[in-house]
Amino acid sequence: MSDDTRDINDDTDSSEGNRGGRGGKQIVRPVIRMLGKSPSRGVARRKVCRFCLDATAVLDYKNPQLLKSFITDRGKITPRRVSGNCAKHQRALALAIRRARMISLLPFAVTGR
Ligand SMILES: [Zn+2]
Repeated sequence: MSDDTRDINDDTDSSEGNRGGRGGKQIVRPVIRMLGKSPSRGVARRKVCRFCLDATAVLDYKNPQLLKSFITDRGKITPRRVSGNCAKHQRALALAIRRARMISLLPFAVTGR
């Protein structure tokens, strides 16, 4: 029913000429095309510091459940541009995570093995 999908496949019968590189417009690089397609990936959520927002969320190195949401699955601390924390709370968070690592509540690094 939809004829519009065929308009780009106008000359698909000469598919062996595709690799030749004569017609440069047929070169498809999926990685670059994917990056250029959507400059804003995903849903743009407003980043706000969770600890500024919620006064009850106290940064404590003895609370690994809270700190765990601010480390990656490899065990690294998520940067501020990702987590959206303010500078003050990011500093306190990093300190709490480092302390929690020292008493092995949090991992230093997570390897695949
Ligand atoms: Zn904050």
